Amino acid sequence: MKVLFVSPGWPKGRLWGELGFKFPSLSLAALAAVTPPEWEVGLWDENIEPSPPATDADLVAITAMTPQAPRAYRLAAHFRAAGKTVVMGGFHASNLPDEALQQVDSVVAGEGELIWPELLADFRAGRLQPVYRSGSLIEMTAIPVARRELFGGKKYLFTNTLQTTRGCPFDCEFCSVTAFYGRKYRKRPVDSVLAELEGLRRKNSFAFFVDDNLVADRNYAMELFAGMRGMGFKWLSHAPIDFADDREFIRAAGEAGCVGLFVGFESLNQEALKAMGKVTNSSRSYLEAAKVFRDHGIGILGSFVLGNDHDTPDVFPQLLRFCEKARIEAAIFPILTPYPGTEVRRRLEVEGRILSNAWEDYDMEHVTFTPKGMTVAELQEGYDWLNRSFYSFGSMYKRIWKLHRSVQVFAPMNIGFRAALRRKMKV
Ligand code: SF4
Repeated sequence: MKVLFVSPGWPKGRLWGELGFKFPSLSLAALAAVTPPEWEVGLWDENIEPSPPATDADLVAITAMTPQAPRAYRLAAHFRAAGKTVVMGGFHASNLPDEALQQVDSVVAGEGELIWPELLADFRAGRLQPVYRSGSLIEMTAIPVARRELFGGKKYLFTNTLQTTRGCPFDCEFCSVTAFYGRKYRKRPVDSVLAELEGLRRKNSFAFFVDDNLVADRNYAMELFAGMRGMGFKWLSHAPIDFADDREFIRAAGEAGCVGLFVGFESLNQEALKAMGKVTNSSRSYLEAAKVFRDHGIGILGSFVLGNDHDTPDVFPQLLRFCEKARIEAAIFPILTPYPGTEVRRRLEVEGRILSNAWEDYDMEHVTFTPKGMTVAELQEGYDWLNRSFYSFGSMYKRIWKLHRSVQVFAPMNIGFRAALRRKMKV
């Protein structure tokens, strides 16, 4: 029997679809790792290889985030027309299984690893069920090493993506992570992470920990950092801004090879942070915290959510000024997006403020709800202006001109974002 794993393309003409650097889907490689050996496994990533392959697979398994869902459904129709059985998982199908079931034969809701072998056995026996939902979350000791050989020969920026923890102890209103993985913070044994890293080690290797918060358990992260010291990896991950408050901790990350962290600043307004449940952030200390990151050789990919109820049109120039003053190396400015399964969607539904369920527009680049402090057009235009301004050469010069070891990552990242934005504007 054969299964083809499918990662649908991001919509073209959108920032994520136009970015030249691509990362592989770790979740599909993880599912491949729990696929019984009698199954032959293939991977098609439309972001890398644009045309659907002619496949002799018996089963097609698609994963999709919400903006990819319309494309996932079109691909499901394509494969079903060719006589394939199609199953779908990922955040979107997990939150809206009934919608997905109108387009595919079966849905995997939530974490897939525990339930996937059962789905395959049912398929072989001709008794595929409409929905597979695991009764429990996987023990982190049971997570097998992802089958990265599936990424071979594909033009990814790099394939050393790995996961050490799942879940987040916090529950921000706009975030889908807790709804999917639960609030319990689960950790893989450090030994097994280090063994996996050892297998990936090459000269000047980069690694990216896809964890939503690598540093939520100090003891665990300190043990990991101690084990990584001297391994020679340059790595990136996610951490909250209050990581800077603990100098010993952030120093250990830098000494373990950390060159960059994705940091959710979300807002410069303390009241807005409180309203969205971002309890790790104090906007008053942002400037100082950013300097602490930089002083430890760690660049910041910041994220600032646009369009929360406290935002007015002044927010766009304010953010640009802050990013330049704080010398934020790179940033994204997602428009608040009411993803299915999130608290913010529930609230905006109650308030009658959802404007669109066109899922391809749930790409954090389009306004899909009625903002409070400005018009839809002001939010959309402010988003475009801020991105253009932040990725202008003048702003890059102000933010990253001083040599610093993370420049090797952030200079190409700025150029990559700038090029993607320009391509997007041309489409
Ligand atoms: S935004 Fe970050 S801190 Fe907040 S719930 Fe999501 S992962 Fe956790």
